[in-house]
Order: sequence, then C-alpha cells, then structure tokens
Amino acid sequence: MYRETWLEVDLDAISYNVETIKELCGKKIIAVLKANAYGCGDHPVVQTVVEAGAEMIAVSSLEEALVLRNEGYTGEVLILGATRKEDLPLVMEKGITITVYSATQIEAMKAYDTSTLKVHLKYDTGMNRIGFRSISELKEALKALLDQKVKVEGIFTHFACADSSKEKTDIQFHKFKEAVETLNYPFTWIHCDNSDASVSYFEDVTNACRLGISLYGISAYKKDLKHALSLYTRLFFIKHVPQGESIGYGATYQTKEEEIIGTIPIGYADGLIRENQGRCVYIEGEKAELVGRICMDQSMVRLNKEYEEGTLVEVFGPHLSIEDMADELHTIPYEIMCLISPRVTRRYMKNGKAIQEENMRLEYSSLIGNQNRGE
Ligand SMILES: *Cc1c(COP(=O)(O)O)cnc(C)c1O
Repeated sequence: MYRETWLEVDLDAISYNVETIKELCGKKIIAVLKANAYGCGDHPVVQTVVEAGAEMIAVSSLEEALVLRNEGYTGEVLILGATRKEDLPLVMEKGITITVYSATQIEAMKAYDTSTLKVHLKYDTGMNRIGFRSISELKEALKALLDQKVKVEGIFTHFACADSSKEKTDIQFHKFKEAVETLNYPFTWIHCDNSDASVSYFEDVTNACRLGISLYGISAYKKDLKHALSLYTRLFFIKHVPQGESIGYGATYQTKEEEIIGTIPIGYADGLIRENQGRCVYIEGEKAELVGRICMDQSMVRLNKEYEEGTLVEVFGPHLSIEDMADELHTIPYEIMCLISPRVTRRYMKNGKAIQEENMRLEYSSLIGNQNRGE
C-alpha cells in the first residue's frame, strides 16, 4: 500500500459470523458474495466462508461467477440474476447454476442441449423483481425443464421486508411454503432467508439460507455478530488556519476562529461521497468534523488539537459504526460498502495481523503490463 487509505476486512469476524448463524439456523449456508463480496474483495472472503462451512456461493451475474472460477473456486455457484441464453454452453462448461424465472426463458433454452444444466427456480412471492408468479406457473416450468433434461436442483424466493416487517415476511413465507409443498419435488436446495430472516425464522420447509450483509456482522436483529469492516486513512498534512478563511471548493465552510485543519487522502472517488461533509471521523478517542466540500481524492477535517502527521483516522469501524454512518447519510450499509471504490486497498486481517493486501487497480494493471510484454 502506497497511499494509506484502506478497507480493513477481519476474516476471523466473517468466520465467526458464518459459524454462529449456521449453528443458530441449522441450515446449509449460501454466502451471497455479489458485487465483489459487497466490495470486500471476493477471493479472500470466498476462502473464509467456505472454510467456515458455507456450501454454496451466490453472485449476481455470469461475470461474477466466472471471476470465482478464474480465482480457483470449484464449488457450487448460483447466479441470482439473469443469464443470457447464448451463454448457456459456457455456464454448463463451468458447472455454474442459474436461476430460472420465466417461461420465455425456458422456451429460449430449447435451442440448446441442456442435459448438464443446473438450475434453481425463482418464485416471486411479493418482491416483484423476478420470478414465477403463481404455483401453476411454477408447475409448468418444472415440467418443461424436466422435459428438457435440466437438473432442477433448487427453488427459492426473496423477502422484501425481512429487516422491517415480520407480518409481510410471514405472508411471503407462507406462499413459498405452499409452493414447495404443492410441487413436492425433491429439490436439494430450498431457500428463502436472507441475512435478517436467517436469524429470526427457523421454519423447516427450507434447508438453506442466503447470507449477505450478516457475513460482515451487520444485522437488524442479531447484535452479537462481529463487525468485520473498518475504513481507515491517515492525516498527512496539518496546519493552522486563521479565523474567517474558507476551506475547499465553493468556500462552503469558514473558520470561526483560528482552527487546526488536517487533510486526509480520501475523497468521493474512494466512495466517501460529498454528502459526508459535516459528518465526523474518529481520531484518537475524539470525533472530528469533515469541513468544506469532500474533494475527489482528499478531504479536510477540523482537529481538536495538534496531531502528528500520520495519525490514524477511522471513517467507520469500531468507534463509528457503519450503521450510524448509513443512517446519517439516509442510506443503508450495503450502499456504503459497495461504493468503496477499487482504488482503495483492501487489507485482510487474521488473528489480529494483516495477512494480505490487495489493490485491484494496481494488480490489474500489472497483469495487463505483463501480457503486453508477452510474459
Ligand atoms: C443480495 C441478496 C441476498 C443477500 O441479502 P442480505 O440482506 O445481504 O443477506 C439474498 N438473496 C438475494 C436474492 C439477493 O439478491
């Protein structure tokens, strides 16, 4: 790492969270690692969750599934979103499982030999995103798939309000349960619970749950999981600014007296969006306000005292929770995590020690460079 702005990912916390939820719900674990494991870097997270007992990895697209295969993961992978029909041969070659959600999709598969294709059926019980919309549609789909020799390994639905309404989630769950019982087919994978449902529903019609955000210790209901993520940077420039001067683009902040202003190497291109102006970071036991506009690469912070250059600054982590940050920004932790850009180095911790550092841009560019040199 050359620029000291990094996302710290505690792999032990992730292991703990997988093991804790697995024990609690007693089901198979599908770790949902879409969007590069919610921005954490899928490679180390895959290894960690698999070692901790996850039986399947779910991603959003064929691209993400191929990334896992390129990285050497040979286990079960489920694509939760759409897959194009022309990609079916590649899907089968790579042993990837896809989601089937419509009759037109099944019709389009007829042009292919699908005898080695593995699928999960998606039932839309109220999210209104993708999925079959009734039990009769599901029945027809199952029959058509079996006629085409497709391996129908699973069925699932997705809850819209698992973090907010038990009542609405119950309605969705009962629709799903009825479908599973009516179809009465020996699916290997029956799943509906996302993170929040997995720690508050223990129904027995399903045998797996899909964990995303709770892998990182973030949960609406279960507060004893371990937080795995912290975003850090360091003060690299500190100065005294006389009263009445302005800070940053647009001169949106004026010093009220002589103030000590620090500069940190993190900005909106790292995912620290401009909305963070006026929020606080944490420095050696105290909160310090981000003053002036957040720039693309740097931000300014008003300090309570003269720190040494190089002092650690926590944007979120053990002292400033990502949940509070999300509330203050009127968003959800998911969005904050996914916005941390590839420019930010990921540092992976195990037994309290940094075991690995990754900078996606730097690694990618050296790969391209080596190809260009014909190595
Ligand atoms: C993203 C996603 C999940 C994981 O949700 P969390 O709330 O992060 O646990 C589960 N299932 C589907 C279909 C998803 O798209």
